[in-house]
Amino acid sequence: MGLNTVFPSAQPLLPYTTHSSNSPELSMTQMNFSSLPLSAELLENIAAIGYEKMTPIQAQSLPIILQGRDLLAQAQTGSGKTAAFGIGLLHKLIARANQTQALVLCPTRELADQVSKELRRLARAIPNTRILTLCGGSPIKAQYASLEQPPHIVVGTPGRILKHLEKGSLQILNLNLLVLDEADRMLDLGFIKDIRFLFRRMPHPDKRLSMLYSATLPLRVTELAYEHMNNPQQVAVDTGKVTAHRITEQVYYVSNPEKIPVLIGLLSNLEITRCIIFVNTKHVAEKVCGYLRGNGFNADVLSGDVQQKKRQSILNRFTQGELPIIVATDVAARGIHVDEVSHVINYDLPEDAEDYVHRIGRTARAGASGSAISLACETYSFSLPEIESYIGYKLNGSTPPPELLAAEIKPPEKRPTDGTRPARRNNPRSGNKGRGRHSGHGDRNKQRNPG
Ligand code: AMP
Repeated sequence: MGLNTVFPSAQPLLPYTTHSSNSPELSMTQMNFSSLPLSAELLENIAAIGYEKMTPIQAQSLPIILQGRDLLAQAQTGSGKTAAFGIGLLHKLIARANQTQALVLCPTRELADQVSKELRRLARAIPNTRILTLCGGSPIKAQYASLEQPPHIVVGTPGRILKHLEKGSLQILNLNLLVLDEADRMLDLGFIKDIRFLFRRMPHPDKRLSMLYSATLPLRVTELAYEHMNNPQQVAVDTGKVTAHRITEQVYYVSNPEKIPVLIGLLSNLEITRCIIFVNTKHVAEKVCGYLRGNGFNADVLSGDVQQKKRQSILNRFTQGELPIIVATDVAARGIHVDEVSHVINYDLPEDAEDYVHRIGRTARAGASGSAISLACETYSFSLPEIESYIGYKLNGSTPPPELLAAEIKPPEKRPTDGTRPARRNNPRSGNKGRGRHSGHGDRNKQRNPG
């Protein structure tokens, strides 16, 4: 299976104009939907929604999809990609059939909800189309009930779809339409194994129409397309925007005694909005937090020992930007749903590869970008090969640059065992208020590391 690059007739339609009715920044071609060989019902509904001209990604994708050829498309959120594959899916769908024909895989529940909403609007043209959203985090029992009558289109996240396949509540043997939406982000979040597993459970690439949309096309995305798609035609829309919602991952190889100095060096240098530091035990959480406070950082611990009321207050302070740093164990971090986490630091690498994915998924939520930094130390670096095999790619690793090693470490602040805060010294570096969005330790670091 090869890969073709096609820039079909949409290309000469440049320059694009800007459309204002739905999205202030949406570029438009001069091509009308009515020029496409779509059913009268679909065209009428597209017009009723208010879409007249196609966006560049729609003008490039739809002729290929309508010809029944696989598609590998580079496009970002906000380009109109959902309607591009949505109209393609609905054109190919036979709503009479009582089986699941189309699967749309999304990296997050938020995107799956958005996609379902757009598909439902477009599907008004085809009466009785059943569209079901299946994502983790929703009660699975209610999903079993909804699946008793097979939906025509399933939109969901890979983990939950897999669960339904394993339980036998969902069948994808007769699938003939597949969309991977935001494929790069799905791989960022470590879904590669689940996606490969799903590919093996669906009909051969020759027997289905597959569409892959991705903001970027790194090698691991094009490899996936080579392996599991049928000679996909490649299109790209350059929005000129910097790629959003990406997680930058970095591993630093450190000895055990270097961990605290590197952590403090990192926090001093990074532009942090909110940071979660993951550790493997409650004891280490207390130790790390003590050092952070002793060195002037405003941090608190979320571990299994923290009472519910205190936990809620820590989370509120974190959400509101009063507390920039949380030191957490995996179990305690489960309920954290905060969008603007700029950094996740694995002070300890997790022993379970899946936890790595859950941890880094805390950053770069809701379209933001984020950074995940892991310290591979003498105690936990053995987890690294397993993590890399689980996520399907090698992590960028190096020894920490010398400027990251904080030269001077103050002793830890003593914390009472019940997790409440002792009376604070008059510490100028604690707190985020009045310091803008960052933890703001750059000056201190400049002093320490002149030049
Ligand atoms: P998406 O990139 O799929 O998230 O779409 C971005 C926004 O563009 C959504 O609000 C869509 O409703 C809107 N949109 C998509 N296609 C068109 C179109 N051809 N004309 C006007 N608005 C559109």
